[in-house]
Amino acid sequence: MTEISNPDCLFCKIAAGTIPVKWLHEDGQILAFNDINPQAPVHVLLIPKQHFTSHAHTTAGDTAILGQLLATAREVAKAQGLANGYRLVINTGLDGGQTVEHLHVHLLGGRHLGWPPG
Ligand code: 5GP
Ligand code: ZN
Repeated sequence: MTEISNPDCLFCKIAAGTIPVKWLHEDGQILAFNDINPQAPVHVLLIPKQHFTSHAHTTAGDTAILGQLLATAREVAKAQGLANGYRLVINTGLDGGQTVEHLHVHLLGGRHLGWPPG
């Protein structure tokens, strides 16, 4: 079940402006802002304004917003000067290490990133 906004959700509060952040990108559907605990010189979070608990909670009807998240990540990566490359991560659920239950894409860059992740 998808909700427009969940009053108990941290990223819904950020999307609603209740918790102010500096926007790196904002449009009708997507917001991008810096992670509070950066793991790389560039560490941006991209979120849909609509509440999805995780990537696994999206459905076949959500293809457009999923595509927009990836396309917006590309534009933010360009704007952040990540010409040498970057990494997009969507932690999902317990095994995925997700800690905030609102779908978000991590955009990481500005240093060489190791692989595999832990
Ligand atoms: P996850 O672990 O769910 O994939 O990622 C959640 C991310 O949200 C973490 O990287 C964490 O640092 C970030 N985060 C948690 N609380 C806040 C906050 O209040 N503001 C911002 N900007 N980032 C947050
Ligand atoms: Zn939410």
